[in-house]
Amino acid sequence: MSEHKRHTMDFELNPAQRDLQQRARSFIGTEVLPHYREWPVANSDYSPELNAHLKGKLAEYGLAKLIVPKEFGGQGLGPMEDVIVLAEFSKSPRRMPGGPFAPWPVLYQAPEKIREKYLYPVLEGKTGWSMCFTEPEAGSDLAGIRTTAVRKNDHWVLNGTKMWRTGHHFASYTAVAAVTDPSKGPKGISVFLVDNDTPGFTKSRDIPVIARQWGTEQEVRLENVIVPAENLLGAEGEGFSIAQHQFNRFRLRLGGTALGMAERSQELAVEYARERKVFGKALGDNQAIQWMLTDNQYDIESIRLNTYYAAWMVARGGYSASRLQAAMVKAYCVDAGLRVIDRSMQVLGGRGLAIEDYPFFDFHNLLRMCKQMEGSTEIMKIVMAREILSGELN
Ligand SMILES: Cc1cc2nc3c(=O)[nH]c(=O)nc-3n(C[C@H](O)[C@H](O)[C@H](O)COP(=O)(O)OP(=O)(O)OC[C@H]3O[C@@H](n4cnc5c(N)ncnc54)[C@H](O)[C@@H]3O)c2cc1C
Repeated sequence: MSEHKRHTMDFELNPAQRDLQQRARSFIGTEVLPHYREWPVANSDYSPELNAHLKGKLAEYGLAKLIVPKEFGGQGLGPMEDVIVLAEFSKSPRRMPGGPFAPWPVLYQAPEKIREKYLYPVLEGKTGWSMCFTEPEAGSDLAGIRTTAVRKNDHWVLNGTKMWRTGHHFASYTAVAAVTDPSKGPKGISVFLVDNDTPGFTKSRDIPVIARQWGTEQEVRLENVIVPAENLLGAEGEGFSIAQHQFNRFRLRLGGTALGMAERSQELAVEYARERKVFGKALGDNQAIQWMLTDNQYDIESIRLNTYYAAWMVARGGYSASRLQAAMVKAYCVDAGLRVIDRSMQVLGGRGLAIEDYPFFDFHNLLRMCKQMEGSTEIMKIVMAREILSGELN
């Protein structure tokens, strides 16, 4: 191999990734974009028939169980493939059927009895799950949670209040973070799998949010909730690190979401700029419009490079070795995506604000919500600064 060849970086997707991207693109272009206006807005309102239809189509296009390990009946694909598909799916203003969360890796390592109850039904699409870390008094500062879990013989007793439970429409259980040893700070937090119908585990209220396709969030109460000892996920005191792993995973995925929304917004803006005539010429012949499209392109390419690079880092070294990149994707790509959506709305004039005709409103509201979820932009900058100042970056 020549010196030149050895040092060439390859920015192309490999043939299998391109094929996957094409299938996801074709699924969205054929099965979703021409039809979604006939569907309910929130996927929690999809009929069983629509859910079954979409799940069948996903399987037909080879897009089911993408990141489920092969030994559990999935395709065993990695983080890069995950973001490639997510980017295509995010070009639709409607969500795919089912809950928002893939099972945590730690659940695959749980004892068989736990997997039978909590993992396999999720993999088979029979149920979903939610997670409750955040509380009314502790969000960004996760170590400040107050929900307690006290061991009594063969079970734990949980008490506390949780906010922002997502995905409850599809869920039969919730992963709840609670303090098991107050003297140990973050190392005294553990996670429990709690069946949603356990006595004492109740909804206090629904919280509607700005993204209408998302459904509602929930605030929930735990009052002397009894959880079998075996429902402790991982080891006692591992809750904080389980959560961090999961957050890094979500943060990377949000890069895929931002990429798809930004690409679709630009596609619509370019189409309009080419076709619309103003003052006797194409809208896109005006420099003010051209600059919006060029600024969009900078942002899109930056989102793509950031996200793909982070996915490549994760594939090589895992999530804990990619904290900086995952935080950067979350902080940068969400804002860049919002800029592209906003400029594209402007290019389309009044049409950009028509919420049934165009996807900008749904894109914007979902992405704006993502700016706060999974660690806000400010918290991402704190994570990044910690990594940068550690002196260990090369
Ligand atoms: C739609 C939605 C879905 C969610 N789903 C879930 C879920 O399923 N499960 C779950 O457990 N949680 C969930 N959350 C909660 C989410 O993770 C929290 O909202 C987030 O962690 C921020 O916490 P907070 O809202 O309490 O804000 P706070 O912690 O009160 O922060 C308020 C503001 O201050 C900023 N801030 C905080 N600390 C600092 C600092 N040191 N320096 C500078 N700025 C700072 C934050 O960035 C934020 O903008 C969800 C939230 C939303 C909106």
